[in-house]
Amino acid sequence: MTNFWTETVKRLTPYVPGEQRSGAHITKLNTNENPYPPAPEVLQAIRGVEGDQLRRYPDPESVELRTTLAEYHGLSIDEVFVGNGSDEILALAFLAYFTNGKPLQFPDISYSFYPVYCDLYGIEQKLVELEPDYSLSLERFEANLGGIIFPNPNAPTASAVPADAVSRLLEKHTEQVLLVDEAYADFGGESVVGLIRQYPNLLVSHTFSKGRSLAGMRLGVAFGHPSLIEGLQRVKNSFNSYPVDALAQAAGVASIKAEDYYRQTLTSIMQTRQQAVSDLQNRGFEVLPSAANFVFAKAPDGNAEQVFRKLNDAGVLVRYWNKPRLDQWLRISIGTAAEMQALLSALDA
Ligand SMILES: *Cc1c(COP(=O)(O)O)cnc(C)c1O
Repeated sequence: MTNFWTETVKRLTPYVPGEQRSGAHITKLNTNENPYPPAPEVLQAIRGVEGDQLRRYPDPESVELRTTLAEYHGLSIDEVFVGNGSDEILALAFLAYFTNGKPLQFPDISYSFYPVYCDLYGIEQKLVELEPDYSLSLERFEANLGGIIFPNPNAPTASAVPADAVSRLLEKHTEQVLLVDEAYADFGGESVVGLIRQYPNLLVSHTFSKGRSLAGMRLGVAFGHPSLIEGLQRVKNSFNSYPVDALAQAAGVASIKAEDYYRQTLTSIMQTRQQAVSDLQNRGFEVLPSAANFVFAKAPDGNAEQVFRKLNDAGVLVRYWNKPRLDQWLRISIGTAAEMQALLSALDA
């Protein structure tokens, strides 16, 4: 049969998300989902959406949601962009700022969607090596290239760089866009959203998927100088005018307003994380310091693949990569205390 794919599509190696298996006996610690439900007000807001709001197209500019986000962060609406998950925002941002003919810089161990977008758009990659202890040295980024992106905290290592280090990086690199992917900033890292007025080349992306328990809703945000935001809007309006549906807009507004609820669930996750680190260490794991809702842990004797398989057989899903420098490690999402207990019981068995 003729294959009608273009050369670009033939060359793609698409991103592979963690397995979405579910069931009564599954403990799912493989995709960094939040173990707690969204705030009750969020579910109420979704149920409150009227038939008329679904019959009509949603607000293409998501004005109420962006206004709510702007007020929450002390910004103005033209500094805020929302999209169908932060992955979509990254895809738009790569097209808007990084298809400039120069290599994009990002850590060699990092979110595996970045190389996928590079391949899709034909962007050359300049990988920046993590240190032997898996930390990211921002001094390693070079001047006069096509841009810089990194997650902070990083994935899958969970380690964070402080905001003042990001400031120093921005002082040095005023000529290329820096995209800081703060998908995990809710779990104790330092956000640099407050720096966007100082640095017109800084874009910061957030997601409702992790800290705000809305992975199933698909909602992401970006903050930056109005000119960066306008660039995203130009790409969005050349691709899909309505990426954020009416349910997601309603859920997003309610979520931002339910601050007390999220403060509690985030605190619980950070407490469970602290306990999980010592429980894993007591079982011979080496665990990197984590500022995220997951930990990156080296299996005893580096035997991660075997541990991964046995956990999988026992219905405990974690993430494993058979790749250099990662193949002795597991990425384990922080669940409820009961879910972490299921992990420990399976490990002990
Ligand atoms: C989860 C994650 C995202 C994507 O979040 P969505 O809003 O669900 O698309 C982006 N970046 C990193 C580093 C992530 O881990």
